[in-house]
Amino acid sequence: MSVDKLVNKALKRIGNVHPVVRAGAEEVIRRAYKQGISVLFSDGYRSNAEQNKLYAQGRTASGKIVTNARGGQSYHNYGLAIDMFITNKAGTSAMWPYDKLKQVARIAKSIGFEWGGDWKTFKDNPHLQITGGLSIAQLQAGQKPNISLKKGGTSTVNPSKPQTKPTTSSSKGLGLVDYMKSKGMDSSYNNRSKLAKQHGIKNYKGTASQNTTLLQKLRGGVPTASRAKGNQNTSSVVDYLKSIKVDSSFSHRAKLARQRGIKNYKGTQAQNNQLLRMLRG
Ligand SMILES: [Zn+2]
Repeated sequence: MSVDKLVNKALKRIGNVHPVVRAGAEEVIRRAYKQGISVLFSDGYRSNAEQNKLYAQGRTASGKIVTNARGGQSYHNYGLAIDMFITNKAGTSAMWPYDKLKQVARIAKSIGFEWGGDWKTFKDNPHLQITGGLSIAQLQAGQKPNISLKKGGTSTVNPSKPQTKPTTSSSKGLGLVDYMKSKGMDSSYNNRSKLAKQHGIKNYKGTASQNTTLLQKLRGGVPTASRAKGNQNTSSVVDYLKSIKVDSSFSHRAKLARQRGIKNYKGTQAQNNQLLRMLRG
């Protein structure tokens, strides 16, 4: 099956997902194909009714339990998640070999997806999502994700020009360019170079480490200074996160914990205390 046919087939199956997820799915298929892997997607957008039907499976209906999420509780319900499988050259079979899924996941992650196979507790190897950092609670409250694909892997940047590959060092997972865009700033190389000079970064060439430094400087304005304080009296990580206006949901705390090397985060008292200490620095 040609790569165009794979793309068509997959895009039909994932349905009404977010346009960025749709573009990401196509990119993943094309890049995987170049690596000799035919990947398709079985699931994408699911309505709440479809999710509830899936939730019933293995509970009030026959079959195996396949999800712990009811309608509205899955990123699929917001068009932000897709489930992959590996197919054969003819595109007629469905397989889930871990090594291949992992290889495809590596491609997907390079353009901004999170992979369910990286989760510590409920591993979901076929699952890819782009959440823009929003929790399910925030999505349920009607917030819309501000998401875009990263350039990732094969850069189309002219090699004689400085690299503009986004860095992923910030607390929100945004690179410098993404961060600037999110603030409505001019993210061109020229403007970054000018800002770098203003912030005392010498000889700016747009390297990853210079971009990281610049990002920290740009974030270090008034908002970050007041952020760094937060509630210093509380012993609750949730209250502390609320005081600095950061998502305090379990899934976001799990992400923050993972980023700080706290393994197998389950939200225990000891883990929360450790996370709180780290967040306060
Ligand atoms: Zn999924």
